[in-house]
Amino acid sequence: MRPQAPVRGRVASTVAMVATVTQLTPRMTRVRLVDDSLVGLAAIPGQTLKIYVPDLVSELPVSRDYTVRDYTLDDDGARPRLDIDVVLHGEGPVADWARRVRPGETLEFVGPSGRYRPDPQADWHLFAGDETALPAIQAYVAMLPANACALAYLEVADAAEEQPIPGVARPTVCWLHRGDRAPGTTTLLDDALRAVALPPGQGRIWLAGHTPTVRRIRAHLLNERAIDRQTLYVKGFWDRRPR
Ligand SMILES: Cc1cc2nc3c(=O)[nH]c(=O)nc-3n(C[C@H](O)[C@H](O)[C@H](O)COP(=O)(O)OP(=O)(O)OC[C@H]3O[C@@H](n4cnc5c(N)ncnc54)[C@H](O)[C@@H]3O)c2cc1C
Repeated sequence: MRPQAPVRGRVASTVAMVATVTQLTPRMTRVRLVDDSLVGLAAIPGQTLKIYVPDLVSELPVSRDYTVRDYTLDDDGARPRLDIDVVLHGEGPVADWARRVRPGETLEFVGPSGRYRPDPQADWHLFAGDETALPAIQAYVAMLPANACALAYLEVADAAEEQPIPGVARPTVCWLHRGDRAPGTTTLLDDALRAVALPPGQGRIWLAGHTPTVRRIRAHLLNERAIDRQTLYVKGFWDRRPR
């Protein structure tokens, strides 16, 4: 039986122990939770968790959305483990927390939520986003069969931020490097998606990341490429906000 869960508003939350903290790339840290409290969570990679961390400025807990990168049994085969991959983007409560969190500390979250899955009937799949979208894109590509036709466009800082896209599908992956430019200030994704030749047949497009960027691209796809809105999933993941 799961232990009594604390409550956030009217929703039960989960508190789980941080087992490991791993630097995946210079700007991406994996926080792995391993805990009996994760038993029965029924999380599916690609779903969303609302995680709670302290804001060092206000000293109040704040919540942010993060993707379930993986949910499986831990190596001992006894307890579940759940991974979230956090972009170390600069200053922000979660980015700050991910830099200082250590094994043995706990993380509270609500969820998982979200029903998006790659459509197994689709003729092709196009995934696009910045590094905040990478954990979800990795999770969705891993769900595709070996014969799937998949393309992925990913804007990251540089080659050191490129990560494997695991699974049996062999997507065509195009990494877009913003270099010294700040995230959210380029048109790399816009330009790439304007230029892409979409495969024939009925496809699905999944797009997430910097909110104004993905909104611009959504408008382009709907208005200039006449993409059927039913085949398009677009989600703003972050935007500039004052601290
Ligand atoms: C459904 C969903 C799933 C998500 N999954 C992931 C995930 O798996 N991994 C992940 O790293 N992020 C993910 N995000 C994005 C993440 O929630 C935001 O980046 C979040 O704002 C970071 O919180 P923070 O406390 O670090 O900074 P905030 O307090 O939110 O922001 C502080 C400052 O940093 C800026 N900022 C925030 N994020 C970024 C960024 N990525 N790059 C540059 N500047 C930024 C803000 O504009 C603000 O100026 C997801 C978002 C959504 C909606």
